Amino acid sequence: MPEARLAELTTLRVGGPAGRLVHATTLAELTDAVAAADAVAEPVLLVAGGSNLLVADEGFAGTVVRVATEGVEVAQEGPEVLVTAQAGVGWDDFVARAVTEGWSGIEALSGIPGAVGATPIQNVGAYGQEVSATVAEVTVWDRRLRGYDASPVMSAPSATGTAGSRRIRTGSWCSP
Ligand SMILES: Cc1cc2nc3c(=O)[nH]c(=O)nc-3n(C[C@H](O)[C@H](O)[C@H](O)COP(=O)(O)OP(=O)(O)OC[C@H]3O[C@@H](n4cnc5c(N)ncnc54)[C@H](O)[C@@H]3O)c2cc1C
Repeated sequence: MPEARLAELTTLRVGGPAGRLVHATTLAELTDAVAAADAVAEPVLLVAGGSNLLVADEGFAGTVVRVATEGVEVAQEGPEVLVTAQAGVGWDDFVARAVTEGWSGIEALSGIPGAVGATPIQNVGAYGQEVSATVAEVTVWDRRLRGYDASPVMSAPSATGTAGSRRIRTGSWCSP
């Protein structure tokens, strides 16, 4: 099997070989890959859109997990909409869907490269909007406890009494 090069997974198109590459298309595959590497103390690098990663020519001597989980669920909760998106969903597609559906709060973040799951890591923002204002909950795989933590790690401002306000929930984020 030809060796996988990280240059193929980063938008800068640089980066040497991956020790091992796992393409995770489901939440179970994603967390299983991280847990399996952790169990043998192998270094792990998650790569989603690869737009905020600069990888050396030496590459990464460990397990590289490509976050390619898909799926968006929508739940109407009174005047609010709670949207749950898997980590691998393309961010710009997600913003486009929000605009089409009339979900307010992330429309200014159009055109930012990457995937949904990476946005809470650095609190992606632009033009006065930040995802921390709309993220209600992030599902985290806790690598120390080896289990999911579904508790909110960021609190959106209370939407109570704000007609038409939206909350957005992202899924499957792995703790560093
Ligand atoms: C042209 C350009 C414009 C940009 N404009 C903006 C801007 O306006 N505002 C802004 O805030 N940012 C901006 N960025 C930065 C970039 O878009 C964000 O950092 C984006 O969130 C990266 O997403 P990604 O999926 O490409 O992450 P990657 O590059 O794949 O990963 C980035 C980091 O997050 C980690 N990671 C990714 N997914 C997960 C996960 N599910 N769980 C745990 N860790 C994970 C990776 O291991 C890595 O450390 C811009 C970047 C570019 C290239």
